Amino acid sequence: MAPTILWFRRDLRLTDNSALIDAVERGESIIPIYIHKESESRWSPGAASRWWLHHSLQSLREALEARGSRLILRRGNALDVLRSLIDDTGAEAVFWNRQYEPETIKRDTQIKSALKEQGIEPRSHNAALLWEPWAIETKQGKPYQVFTPFWKACQSQAPSRPEREVRKIPTPKDWPTSLHLEELSLLPKIDWAAGFRADWTPGEKGAKAQLRRFVRDSLERYSDGRDRPDMRHTSRLSPHLAFGEISPRHAYWEARDAGQDATKFLSEVAWREFAYHLLYHFPETTDQALRPQFREFPWAEDEKMLRAWQRGRTGYPIVDAGMRELWHTGWMHNRVRMIVASFLTKDLLIPWQRGAEWFWDTLVDADLANNTLGWQWTAGCGADAAPYFRIFNPVSQGERYDPDGAYVRRWVPELRDLPKKYIHQPWAASPGVLAQANVKLGENYPRPIVDHAKARMEALNAYEKIKKKS
Ligand code: FAD
Repeated sequence: MAPTILWFRRDLRLTDNSALIDAVERGESIIPIYIHKESESRWSPGAASRWWLHHSLQSLREALEARGSRLILRRGNALDVLRSLIDDTGAEAVFWNRQYEPETIKRDTQIKSALKEQGIEPRSHNAALLWEPWAIETKQGKPYQVFTPFWKACQSQAPSRPEREVRKIPTPKDWPTSLHLEELSLLPKIDWAAGFRADWTPGEKGAKAQLRRFVRDSLERYSDGRDRPDMRHTSRLSPHLAFGEISPRHAYWEARDAGQDATKFLSEVAWREFAYHLLYHFPETTDQALRPQFREFPWAEDEKMLRAWQRGRTGYPIVDAGMRELWHTGWMHNRVRMIVASFLTKDLLIPWQRGAEWFWDTLVDADLANNTLGWQWTAGCGADAAPYFRIFNPVSQGERYDPDGAYVRRWVPELRDLPKKYIHQPWAASPGVLAQANVKLGENYPRPIVDHAKARMEALNAYEKIKKKS
């Protein structure tokens, strides 16, 4: 009988996987495949994502093997690979779950029509979102650009419940050839990932455990604790969601059914939906500001300043702590993402796209929709954005959200012994206090690379220039 090819992409799981369930229901044998393509595209997976992908594929392969199935790995252009697999196996159907990045939509549309022409049945499903990006629209039939009414509209359509975990996968008599996972060369040549290994368990099992832990231990404290980077009150599900190791339906309903107030958490999950809604309707925003007047903004490209930011050597402890957390663990707390993004775009006037690229390479949860929204929101040039003139003060943000300095002490150990009063502004401490804490400004910890008050005025002046044009 003609098998079904199940094309895994960013849905590396066996629970609530709509394409897999459909393939099982089709009743023929299933050939699961993952196709890797090296690409020059700006948005092909960065180094941290590649590390995650390697481990996630390994986990998926083990889960499939435990059910007597396999994961076929191939490399190259997706349509060519699918065609050659169809030739090898006589498959008559190819099923997958949809993705919404502009380049992927273009490619998948071409693949769909090419397969149809060949007499092969292509079928795609939604397993990545609670609501399809086109299913929510304003009364005028337009996309939303403000979160609150978007979320209100979403709430009038309850998302569907997650589908079952697939336990039995019909296998073919003969298996096609596969590459070894190592042949995809996803892992770094020099092993810099010790911090990643310590913090994360990629794969569906790790994702489910993380969701259970979060709902049991932290959901209750989420709404008041989610802004505190010194504590672990957020779900840390973002990389698992980004690789589709767990579905948003699963996270949504598990939190909702937990018997606690999950409103705030559900609305954050809905920000992810909003991000996809925007990416789908405004695909150019991955590279260009949504608000056109920002395309004329007088940004300053400064490599030295950019490097200081990337390396966590700006002299502003909360910014440096965030950038170092990112480097060591591949993740950064949301509040700190906003602080470091504001610092880059407003204190340093460096284009938000440079920040988005750095995040893209270093985040394990790099997600084109969320990253684009996060950067444009903070830079003030996107949908429902923080107004440009609201510029985060890195000292008061630090004092408010890391009141004892525990987060800074963890990631910027050179400041560990500073008293609480100075932990977010070491330059304000007297020479005696600095000496006692063994802090030598300009030697073992940098002096601030810009004066925040002055930088803020310059940012506001730059904004005035484009405001007049709008
Ligand atoms: P929780 O607070 O537990 O939230 C649960 C889930 O909801 C998250 O996993 C995420 O999928 C979604 N979510 C929460 N907050 C947001 C938000 N503001 N926007 C969109 N979705 C949200 N998130 C990414 O997943 N990938 C990115 O590449 C990314 N880049 C960002 C860049 C900037 C400049 C900023 C300000 C934010 C970015 N975010 C990104 C959003 C947010 O910071 C992370 O989703 C969140 O910190 C992940 O941690 P968590 O899983 O513990 O979140």
